[in-house]
Amino acid sequence: MKRKEVNSSRIPVYRDAGFELYDAATTAAAFKNETEHKREPDSYIYSRYRNPTVVSAEDEIMNLEGCGWALLTQSGMSAIDTALSIYQNKEKTRPWLFFTEIYGGTISFVESVLKLRRGLDIHYFSPHSEIYDLVEFEKILSALKPELVYIESISNPMLIVADISEISKSAKKHGSKLIIDNTFATPWLCKPLEHGADIVIHSATKYFSGHGNLTAGVICGNDKMIMKSAIEYRKLVGHMLSPDDAYRLQTQIQSFNLRFSRQCDNASKLASRLTKIPAIRKVWFPGLKEHSTHVVAKSLFNGKGFGAMITFDFDGNDENEKRNRRDLFINHVSGNIKLIPTLGDPHTILMPVEAVWGSKYPEPGMIRLSVGFEEYGALEATIMKAFNKVL
Ligand code: PLP
Repeated sequence: MKRKEVNSSRIPVYRDAGFELYDAATTAAAFKNETEHKREPDSYIYSRYRNPTVVSAEDEIMNLEGCGWALLTQSGMSAIDTALSIYQNKEKTRPWLFFTEIYGGTISFVESVLKLRRGLDIHYFSPHSEIYDLVEFEKILSALKPELVYIESISNPMLIVADISEISKSAKKHGSKLIIDNTFATPWLCKPLEHGADIVIHSATKYFSGHGNLTAGVICGNDKMIMKSAIEYRKLVGHMLSPDDAYRLQTQIQSFNLRFSRQCDNASKLASRLTKIPAIRKVWFPGLKEHSTHVVAKSLFNGKGFGAMITFDFDGNDENEKRNRRDLFINHVSGNIKLIPTLGDPHTILMPVEAVWGSKYPEPGMIRLSVGFEEYGALEATIMKAFNKVL
């Protein structure tokens, strides 16, 4: 039964697990076409392979990222797994090099899955004094000749900005692929593919969704061969995003530029304000002149902002006083600024750094803010009221 077309201006949620293929000849043609691993197949077969609602949400991300293809996955972690796993080859996988300043979940994945279970030869590169020493990086690349290099454009929670163009030049020189997690910077601030990255991934759970109400990931690129491998891997391990989440993501992403630019503005204003609070020892925000990577951020982000994350550290005579101030602050803002372990929500939310990162960042007074797109005056008033109580 063929239904009449509806004059809707949107792609609906196609919840079909499998699509109707009518007869043996159409089925044979669909399965033959499937081996070409097109992003938008000539005919849909099964939603774990490809789904029209998901393809439509991917189009939206391609517009934002300015890339040749985008593939949605069910989480940021499955995007990371896909981006990395397509470079694993039983016979000849060269070492993989990871910057240490990346999301803790990615480090755990690298350690528990890539290293311990899959036996990959993993190496790390750490910053010194919160800056990446690219001379040292070049030396490591030259000695190691890694298959791939994995970095985040803005790290977490110290917000170190990577000089993507220079890193990419070095990676190319030594025959290494460059994978960049651009979740914190988003395409509003920079498009790593334009600077030579091979793959960009995002936790779309964050700013792309922007409302803290869905989990998704995306892998983006220009090279069609990489796309085909990623499509095959996503299909075989079942990393495909659900059509319902794709539909919601597609709707919410339409306000991304508006939301994120406002979040960046709010964060810039708030970061400068925080530097004037006597109880705060230090503020980390790439827009501040004193931030270790301010110069890199200024040139990479082209004046469009510096992101919407701020980390700050309470001063105190000893660890107890710092912890006490941190806890009082969290308590006083809790009606408006909630402790939620994510980022990119509409409202400003926070995380106590030591409680989450433990010994990696053991400063007890540190708090990470994910700044929202609420009205700035109200946000500053909430925060200042809490500081007045803490002092
Ligand atoms: N990349 C970054 C920078 C993240 O912060 C996160 C999660 O917090 C992820 C990837 C993983 O994303 P997801 O939670 O959507 O799997």
